Amino acid sequence: MLTLQCSCYGTNHFWGEQETSHDEGYGTCPSCSKMQLQKANDILDDVIILIESKLQAEKLKIFSNRTLESKRNFAISAIDKGLITYSFN
Ligand SMILES: [Zn+2]
Repeated sequence: MLTLQCSCYGTNHFWGEQETSHDEGYGTCPSCSKMQLQKANDILDDVIILIESKLQAEKLKIFSNRTLESKRNFAISAIDKGLITYSFN
């Protein structure tokens, strides 16, 4: 564990592990990580609503029985495959 500086706000210091995705001494603090995860999940939940609106009744019934995690993974897969594009307004 090291003292790291949050790369989101720059002034937030926290204890954490150095990750290769950040420059040395920098990271994403737990508060910012939680906020980023919430934003990502909000986007995925919007994509799930879009997917559900396009499914025929029989497939919608099957999709609706999936867990939220499974629906979010399906949404990620659809975005990764380029089946759905998402833009920020
Ligand atoms: Zn932060």
